Amino acid sequence: MHRVLILKEGRKHGKYVRSSAAARLASRLTEAAIDGNKRHTFACAKGCDWCCYIQTDVFAGEAFVLADAVRRMPDEQRERVIERLGKNAARFSKMSLTDRQSAKIPCAFLNVQQGACSVYESRPSACRRWHGLDAQACKANFETQDGNPVVDPVAMHVAVLVATAYRKAMKEPVGELHRGVMMALDPDAERRFSRGEPVFDGWTSTDQNMTEEELRNVKGMSDSIADSAKRIAGV
Ligand code: SF4
Repeated sequence: MHRVLILKEGRKHGKYVRSSAAARLASRLTEAAIDGNKRHTFACAKGCDWCCYIQTDVFAGEAFVLADAVRRMPDEQRERVIERLGKNAARFSKMSLTDRQSAKIPCAFLNVQQGACSVYESRPSACRRWHGLDAQACKANFETQDGNPVVDPVAMHVAVLVATAYRKAMKEPVGELHRGVMMALDPDAERRFSRGEPVFDGWTSTDQNMTEEELRNVKGMSDSIADSAKRIAGV
């Protein structure tokens, strides 16, 4: 059902903004799916930003939404964020998952002083799906990388289902957040993308840099979260 809604939303808007319109709808569907299946009080709050130091992939449509948020920032903030996006894009292009976690480099959109996302309303699905149930566990995981963040498996799983529907509906490139937003920043990028021009040429997803062991661990975690969600909520 989500897949059909996303497709319809994309078609409803002019083809030049089809991707970003569909990505915005997918964000609303993700929030609704998480709210509709909520069983716990989440530990997430402003000032708690331990999950904003990990690598993140976005869909092309999400990169356009984030680029739009950057373009709407006040001049000084925009310049600062674009500089960080560029630096992070270059740094992360060759980092494995473990390297990235050990380096503890904040996302370019994180307001480190406030511990808050500066593009909260525009954040991608990969960020919307994390809901910690124990802030201390998230902190310990950030500090040592060998703890286990206690995430809500149901929230994670239903958000992944919407992301999967988006992927199937839109068939868009996916890649690392910082590089994708840099590529999407040109105000004409989405229009060019809609014409089939190679806006995201050379863009790669973060799993391209993962070792075999990291890929196995990530898959194991995803499978275990999906199993828990099915057991708890039957979703
Ligand atoms: S986009 Fe926002 S929520 Fe996502 S990692 Fe960056 S700062 Fe955190």
